[in-house]
Amino acid sequence: MHAETGFRESAAQALGDPQIRANFRRAMDGLMAKRAAQFPDPEDFQAMRHLGTAIRARSLLKLPALLEQLEASCLRNGIQVHWARTCEEGNELILGLLQARGATRLVKGKSMVSEEMGLNHFLEAHGVEALESDLGEYIIQLDQETPSHIIMPAIHKNKTQIARQFSQKIKDAKYTEDVDELTALARKVLRRKFFEADAGLSGVNFAVADTGTLCLVENEGNGRMSTHVPPLHIAVMGLEKVVETLEDVAPLYALLTRSATGQAVSTYLNLIRGPRGPGELDGPREVHLVILDNGRSRIYADPQLRATLRCIRCGACMNHCPVYTRVGGHAFQAVYPGPIGTILTPQMEGVGVRHELLHGSSLCGACAEVCPVEIPIPEIIVRLRREATHRDAASAVEGRGTGRTATEDLAWRLWAAVLSRPRVYRLAAWCATRFRRLIPGGLPLLKAWTLSRAKPVPARRSLQERVREEGLPHG
Ligand code: SF4
Repeated sequence: MHAETGFRESAAQALGDPQIRANFRRAMDGLMAKRAAQFPDPEDFQAMRHLGTAIRARSLLKLPALLEQLEASCLRNGIQVHWARTCEEGNELILGLLQARGATRLVKGKSMVSEEMGLNHFLEAHGVEALESDLGEYIIQLDQETPSHIIMPAIHKNKTQIARQFSQKIKDAKYTEDVDELTALARKVLRRKFFEADAGLSGVNFAVADTGTLCLVENEGNGRMSTHVPPLHIAVMGLEKVVETLEDVAPLYALLTRSATGQAVSTYLNLIRGPRGPGELDGPREVHLVILDNGRSRIYADPQLRATLRCIRCGACMNHCPVYTRVGGHAFQAVYPGPIGTILTPQMEGVGVRHELLHGSSLCGACAEVCPVEIPIPEIIVRLRREATHRDAASAVEGRGTGRTATEDLAWRLWAAVLSRPRVYRLAAWCATRFRRLIPGGLPLLKAWTLSRAKPVPARRSLQERVREEGLPHG
């Protein structure tokens, strides 16, 4: 997804919409309370997340070898493995798999990687119906929207908005605000689609290298239906999702469900080991795994930025972020909004084009405090802010240095020229202190600064002058 307007503009629009603010405030308050109830003891939480962090860090340390091992294990289990360097490659690959089998109806479980690929639009443009079966995803698909949260994609809507939408868009649906009735309505539509589908697609929460097991965490059962009812199952994952052993899954799963939805366990945990075996009556006849890079190798190559890949996509950083809570997910105009999106999107799409996102953070640190795998999000934001404006930064981050405007560039050059010449600096300080009241707030640089802050006014005397006046020793 690419930004249509700047983050600053879309955030300002969202702030002016009281419905969005109310929906997010209510939802985030609920999620924060549920999560807090799951971690009543701060010491236990720290111990759990140290373990989670260690598992994810170890998996990343061994990533190339684990990916090879995963491929071998999957092949042994009858899962065919495909590698996609880019989203385009991934889309073509999936389309090829579907077309080769004459499949035109795909039913999807929730998958953020498929959102990243823009898979639905791509398939629809090639004559394949791609229907979302996760309730939240189904709701936003009806309105052709994008997810506003990685765990709860339709969190920006309240039940009145959904009731209105269902009554208008689902054939023969009566208007109701009863949540159970709304859910039953969607279930009725979707159940038929599962049985009609030629193929099912799902994401992967954890892929286990030594057993070739694909773990899928969900609450609605739609993941199980998408992966087990149609004859073809295609799983898509980012290459960082691999872990070493099944023992690694349990602690990460405990952190994921508690951090994401405040549940000790999810309703379903699917452990997919391959297609149906001889004599088995259910399960897909073919299982394919598509492993997507899309810039992850570049992130992996940098020792500090690599921490970004520890993410288990729980969404807790969003729920606790004062910026996300106020502007909502769509303001970020990115597949991954909130704090994790703030660091992931510029790394994937380039800091030059998405540098505005890096300033959508107050650096309060709430995200890092709740992150179950201790990703130092504020530190990475600061690092990327520097990358965005410094071409000389020695890293592989795309578009570094291009986030600096010509005005900023000129201002910093002038600043450097003044500060490196003592006489010029003294003259500038004298002028600034004597004419301080005349400095206009409307100068291009000051204008942006003073939008939400008081205009900086220099002191009456410079520090050097005061030191001299006080007779203090100076060099
Ligand atoms: S960065 Fe941490 S808190 Fe945010 S989604 Fe990823 S794992 Fe969860």
